[in-house]
Amino acid sequence: MKVFKFGGASVRDADAVRNMCRITLEQGAPPLVVIVSAMGKSTNALEELINLNREGKPWEDSLKSFESFHLDIARSLFEDPNHRIMDKIGNLMDELYEKLNSDHSNFEAYYDRVVCYGELLSTAIVHGYLEAQGIPCTFLDARELIITDNTYREGKVRWLETKKIIGERILRADPSIFITQGFIASNTKGNPVTLGREGSDFTAAIFAYCLEAETVTIWKDVPGILNADPHRWDQTVKYPSLSYAEAAEMTYYGATVIHPKTIRPLAVKKIPLIVKSFMDPVVEGTRIADLHHPALEPAIIFKPDQCLISFQVRDFTFINERKLSMIFHLFEEYNIKINMMQSSAISFSVCIDSPDRKMKVLINSLSGEFDILYNDHLELITIKNYQPELVARLKKGKQILLEQKSRKNYQMLTTTSYSSILA
Ligand code: ASP
Repeated sequence: MKVFKFGGASVRDADAVRNMCRITLEQGAPPLVVIVSAMGKSTNALEELINLNREGKPWEDSLKSFESFHLDIARSLFEDPNHRIMDKIGNLMDELYEKLNSDHSNFEAYYDRVVCYGELLSTAIVHGYLEAQGIPCTFLDARELIITDNTYREGKVRWLETKKIIGERILRADPSIFITQGFIASNTKGNPVTLGREGSDFTAAIFAYCLEAETVTIWKDVPGILNADPHRWDQTVKYPSLSYAEAAEMTYYGATVIHPKTIRPLAVKKIPLIVKSFMDPVVEGTRIADLHHPALEPAIIFKPDQCLISFQVRDFTFINERKLSMIFHLFEEYNIKINMMQSSAISFSVCIDSPDRKMKVLINSLSGEFDILYNDHLELITIKNYQPELVARLKKGKQILLEQKSRKNYQMLTTTSYSSILA
């Protein structure tokens, strides 16, 4: 059993869908689980619809263009204009309309109810297209297979139940190409819950873990894992292989090539993860596995959209353990991830993703105790396995607000008044 995952870019238009189906058939064989994301940027489009509705603004035109985007792809893929996929898309759009109009007093639950239609539409189209080519394949609704707790928009997987269901639905079935959605799941009551933005990689890892798959392949628009974003650095190198630990750390610091939650389930079962290009499928990508490698080429990770919050004591009592625990407690309660932190006698600073939905509430909760300073539009740059010359080159001309160095990693939080760091 192998698992393939195709992201939004690999199904962004009709040609891309043809290409992903070709790769599936040429590089895979049943039993195979194929995880597909929403087409192109359709999750962003759904988020926009959700926000328009929340703000009481008209959203019908945006919904029409969302529908046309999918219908245009389907019309180009299916010769028969009356193919049943058109009804299927129509039905899914009716459901989406109904969900958009549903009660949104529990906003997070409402968001998940609506946003899963990107993946439901893309998988319906891909499944229909494969079938139309005479390729037997099985459609699965991931909401019935992956069970989470009630943390809407960031569901925590209930592994035992999920493993049992996936085993029953896939291992007991005849070998097939199973097409299913990334990103979406449901809680024990059957309400849709998503796994966090860009969570389809994690879906692939969940399936692989539950099925004890041989490998997972993530098909991307890059040839593998590079040591830096090629838009920002002009001397990138591709890693032929990486250990699970290196890859996990890179995702933690902000490398967006794989979702941070992907590595752990695979490492536990020692399932190799291959990252390859869907534009050049025969070229070797990067293999992430249980291995040790000699010193690695430094990785430069640019994490944009950061903010710095500093909590300053007012009464000369210093930042002590009680104050730190008060701050950490709230970060945990609001589920806000700290990307970097630094403490001094009277101030404690944290760098977090911006804008974080819960940040305002957190700041309000702590404003009685601290003076709170705030800087936005920052970028966190991490160099893994750094070399001093490289650090010096990256620091040049930058305003640095926070800086940290350990044996292997260097980090700086900078203002983003420059446009690029191409060498
Ligand atoms: N469609 C979702 C997103 O854009 C999940 C994914 O693509 O991984 O965030």
